[in-house]
This record gives sequence, C-alpha cells and structure tokens, in this order.
Amino acid sequence: MRMYTCINCGVEVKELYRRYSPSVLKVLKCTNCGSLADKYIEYDPVIVLVDLVLLEKPAYRHLLYNSEFESYWKLMIVLLLGESYRVWATHDSSNEPLKADRFEGESGFSILVAHTGFSLGFFAAAVILGTELRWLLSQRPKKYRATDLVRALIVGGCAKLLGLLGLVWQHVSHDLHYALIHGYTMLCLLTAYSVVCESGRGGSLIGLAAGLLAHNYVSTWVWLPSASQNVTLVQNNIRS
Ligand SMILES: [Zn+2]
Repeated sequence: MRMYTCINCGVEVKELYRRYSPSVLKVLKCTNCGSLADKYIEYDPVIVLVDLVLLEKPAYRHLLYNSEFESYWKLMIVLLLGESYRVWATHDSSNEPLKADRFEGESGFSILVAHTGFSLGFFAAAVILGTELRWLLSQRPKKYRATDLVRALIVGGCAKLLGLLGLVWQHVSHDLHYALIHGYTMLCLLTAYSVVCESGRGGSLIGLAAGLLAHNYVSTWVWLPSASQNVTLVQNNIRS
C-alpha cells in the first residue's frame, strides 16, 4: 500500500484526503502535528512551483512523496543537456586555458555530454555513499530510500538550469551570475537533501560535501580518453 507523507512534520500517513462526492474533497489532518497533512493537493501546480523556488520544505515533501510526478528521468536529461550546453557555450570565455578548444565540433559536444553525465553520476553516487556513512554514526530515518535521495538531487539540481539565462542576458557578468546560480543550487540541494534525510542544514551539508568534492574532482581533473588525447596533441603542438 502506498504511504504518503505529512508535508509539515514528515511522518508517514495512510491517506491525505477523503472524497465525499465528485466535487467534495476533504483534506485530512496529520495525527502527529495536527495540521493539514498536504494542503498542496488543493492548490494549483504553479503555487507548488513557486514554493519550491522559495525553498519551502513542505513543497519538496509534496513533490517527492505525495504527488503523481514520475518524470524524474526527463528532468535528468534536460539537466544533462542544459548543463552541457552551458559549459559548451561559455568555454570560449572560460578563464581556464586547459579547457579551451576541447569541445570543437559535434563529436566534441557528445564528449562534453558524456563528461557532464559522468560528473553528475559521480556526484549522486558520492552523496549516496556519504549518506550511508552518515547512517553509521546517526540513526537512519525509517522512510529513507536511496531512490528518493536521487530524485531529490535531480529536483534540487534543476536550479542549475537558471545558468542558461545568463546566456540570454549577455550583459550580466558571467562569473557573478554563475556564482549566484551555484549558491542558489546549493540551497535547493540542501533543502531537498534535508527533506529526504530528515537532517538539519549542517548534517545535510556534510552529506552533500562528499558529492561536491567528487563532482569537482571529476569535472576538473578527469577527462574522457579522446578529450585527453586532444589535450596531449595541443600540448605537443605547443612544445614543438
Ligand atoms: Zn504532521
């Protein structure tokens, strides 16, 4: 039987509402905290989206546990392509000379997509592993599942797509814009993580730190074979 979650206190509830007739629906109260278990089921999805943007934990609980939303893999593809496109479109103005000239042509873009996918995969795997290590020290929440954590990371990571706006608004300083997006994405990830792992911001930061280190390491230092061959060629050309 599917269990739902109270969006205010996070305990599991059997049902969220009762339908008395096709037009009459009563949202039930949570027996633990006494508030309505999920007020969002009566709300317009746009309001849920606004509350997600405003980093409201109840909205994250609604999306992850109570809604019918299942298209996380589609979000993941959008995220993958969006992030790859952002890197591809900005690599010319990149301050890191090593990154320049790596992604010319169509095959360059597929390498970049693979590399972004690799980095994001490493990020998720490291967060899950870091979280498992955390459960050795503190008690694992009863309803914690790794799949929920991956979903939460996908939802939180979508804030990164705001980076694409920087390509439209060229007048905004790229570095400043990206720093703001990065900070906001961190807040989204922290909120999503703390909802799934029932931890405060501090504990969530520890859980996410492993992922961030892995992501940073992979996206900066690890390159796929053909990309590193190109670099070696470039380096040889410079030397000769
Ligand atoms: Zn409650």
